[in-house]
Amino acid sequence: MDHHSSSTAVHQGIFMPPSQTTLSQLTLEEKAALVAGLNMWQTKAIERLGIPSILMTNGPHGVQKQSGEATDFAGMSNSLPATCFPPAVIQAATWNRELIHEMGNALGEECRQEKVSILLGPGINIKRSPLGGRNYDYYSEDPYLSGEMAGQLITGIQSQGIGASLKHFAVGNQEYRRMTINAVVDERALREIYLPGFESIVKNVQPWTVMNAYTLVNGTYCSENPYLIGEILKKEWGYQGVVLSDWGSVNDRVAGLNAGIDLEMPGPAIDNQRAILAAVKAGDLPEAALDRAVERLLALIFKAQETLAKGDFTYDKQAHHDLARRIAEEGTVLLKNENQILPIPETAKIALLGHFAKKPRFQGTGSSLTKPTQVDNLYDEMIRRIGEAHVLYAPGFPEKDAAPVDDTLLNEALGVAAQADYVIVMVGVSVAEGGDQPDMKLPAAHAALIERVADLHQHVIVLLSNGNPLEMPWLNKVPAVLEGYLAGQAGAGAQADILLGRVNPSGKIGETFPVQLEDNPSHHYFPGGPAVVEYRESLYVGYRYYDTAHIPVQFAFGHGLSYTTFEYRDLLVQAQKDSTKVTFNVKNTGNRAGKETAQVYVRDVESSAFRPFKELKGFAKIHLNPGEEKEVTIQLDRRAFSFYDVGKKDWVLEAGDFEIMVGASSQDIRLATTLRLDSDQQASACADQAALAPYFSVTRAPISREAFAALYGKPLPENVTPQKGSYTLNTPFGDMKDSWLARQLLTLMNGQVKKMVGGDDPDNPLLAMVENMLKEMPLRAMLMMTNGALKRPTLEALLLMINGQGLRGFGALIKSLVKK
Ligand code: BGC
Repeated sequence: MDHHSSSTAVHQGIFMPPSQTTLSQLTLEEKAALVAGLNMWQTKAIERLGIPSILMTNGPHGVQKQSGEATDFAGMSNSLPATCFPPAVIQAATWNRELIHEMGNALGEECRQEKVSILLGPGINIKRSPLGGRNYDYYSEDPYLSGEMAGQLITGIQSQGIGASLKHFAVGNQEYRRMTINAVVDERALREIYLPGFESIVKNVQPWTVMNAYTLVNGTYCSENPYLIGEILKKEWGYQGVVLSDWGSVNDRVAGLNAGIDLEMPGPAIDNQRAILAAVKAGDLPEAALDRAVERLLALIFKAQETLAKGDFTYDKQAHHDLARRIAEEGTVLLKNENQILPIPETAKIALLGHFAKKPRFQGTGSSLTKPTQVDNLYDEMIRRIGEAHVLYAPGFPEKDAAPVDDTLLNEALGVAAQADYVIVMVGVSVAEGGDQPDMKLPAAHAALIERVADLHQHVIVLLSNGNPLEMPWLNKVPAVLEGYLAGQAGAGAQADILLGRVNPSGKIGETFPVQLEDNPSHHYFPGGPAVVEYRESLYVGYRYYDTAHIPVQFAFGHGLSYTTFEYRDLLVQAQKDSTKVTFNVKNTGNRAGKETAQVYVRDVESSAFRPFKELKGFAKIHLNPGEEKEVTIQLDRRAFSFYDVGKKDWVLEAGDFEIMVGASSQDIRLATTLRLDSDQQASACADQAALAPYFSVTRAPISREAFAALYGKPLPENVTPQKGSYTLNTPFGDMKDSWLARQLLTLMNGQVKKMVGGDDPDNPLLAMVENMLKEMPLRAMLMMTNGALKRPTLEALLLMINGQGLRGFGALIKSLVKK
């Protein structure tokens, strides 16, 4: 596109181009300045041209506008109260598009009140491993479900004239060494698993901004990846909005601009401004590339301005709290309910064990941490419903997850349980950005409480507060398990209503709960390191693997029980011109009203490429009164049957039979039929079928490096730790422990962080999180952490010294300090 056309229409009317200013009025210096933020959360203004600054905040499940001066890079401290809606993990479990759209509206309204123009979310990275440290912030192991739900959130946010930021593009499925690890992913896995969620949202919803991931993908940082950003996102998918860098993810800004990263965050990034100017002057960066970034940015700023110009707005706090509760109601998943032990009669005496009853764990620690407007707890919510005389309580275990079993607390809890008709054991696992989970286990003291209470009592209900799937060695001992996930500020009310049967549960897990961690397909390769993480399992992520390799699971993808029962019948599948129409009936055969999520899976019966046994391609959530029956129609497009043909660089639908399966979960298939589809597309010949054998017949055995190399089609990078002498600005602090200077710098950074998150209270979860993150941060992160005070030449001089070149480094240091 010719950049001078910036004063005319852009795309689908989403971005109104600036009328007050044109690109040509900006000097080169101004343009180089504009493509980085002003500070942690704002863009730069250029007053002489009337270009205002706009504000963005985290995201994704609450608006975290920071007050006062204190701003840390995750935006966690000192933020103003806002509704803490349920995080992505539980939003996904609602499978309710309209509800998540409503949540988006509400977030948009809160942004309007706070004059925030961009909300940094949602995140839709795939849950490759049950250990993913940020799985709570992400939707699903399935790209279709992720794209559908997050797409609705974005549509809602943007309907308020507020921009969303679809993140983190792309791959970025782990916290371990997230700023330096090279994720090696084959093209099909990229196209069929890691990208489609982004693709459908970009094509259908056009988020105002997209945020790049921290990692390298196939050898290149996402923040400067011409293939991901330039080629796929912008060219192939036609993305028109602004691509912004995740905070501190920029490695080489000039390469980033060339690739299509429009805005560097945070700013001011003075060094990079200089680098951009130098690169344009030297001809290494075409001015047109800079212009394109500025053009997109201006369109965004002025679009945001239109909303701000509408004036003040006040949202309805109570209505948003109620909405947060409704989302929790629909996302809470009844995993097990033997002999219909739930719901609990309201006349019963109920013991609540576990301190979460009074201090709920309702969100994770990290950049999505929201300061709630109010927080409900189950203890009060139960009393409100059934009266104080019916509710007993004991904390059961120490507050710290890592603490060992405390016999006094445990025995007290057993005593309380003995007096009750029903016992609800509230246990969970804390989650935090910046690190992956070490295992899939409950804290020892929590597990002990379940085991001991189950020995004593028949009516035990386990209520979980967690962000990742868990192993449940105690599962057979308890009749009921309610997956509460991290339910947001109003979650307790939802839980109380479900436990008492005032609300019929309808959540279904958007991820598989394997029996044990070792069953997970990425287990052998996750999280990799020190330099590389290989995605050897390729397409076989989550249920795609368990189903294909016939690995029994604890709870299947899409599973969730109700207090009523549903019957499926009359499946009819009709191939139409460009789509396939799937119709069936669902009937509520029980005696309570309820909601059911019917899921449509597709299997390619015979294919020249390897394919997972089944894949989710459609779903519908329907409300049914007792005895009521409804017809459900789901349209499947050609893509639903296609695979990505690497040879053709395109999607291919091979003619033949496809099985259409309709079910209540990925493993509870109620109806199935086979459909024959015609197609004139031919897949390209498979290069070396023998070398790819483990992908055609999938087993438990780990995939060899050779087989993965054959699939990857290029030599695999070496996975080495850099040694002294070859450290770079991208070497993590923790890898340079042999350098006294690097250790000092780390100490310095730790000090800085302590100040940011407010003191050095060892119990502050933020502190632990950031300290952990720091060890894995590359040296270059200092440029961001010092807010521009430290300049790149100075850091490069320090790097020479760290690498043992003391004299040269010292010289360079002096030079860098003398030079302005
Ligand atoms: C996170 C982003 C977040 C940003 C700003 C990063 O560390 O990965 O999701 O929006 O910080 O706080």
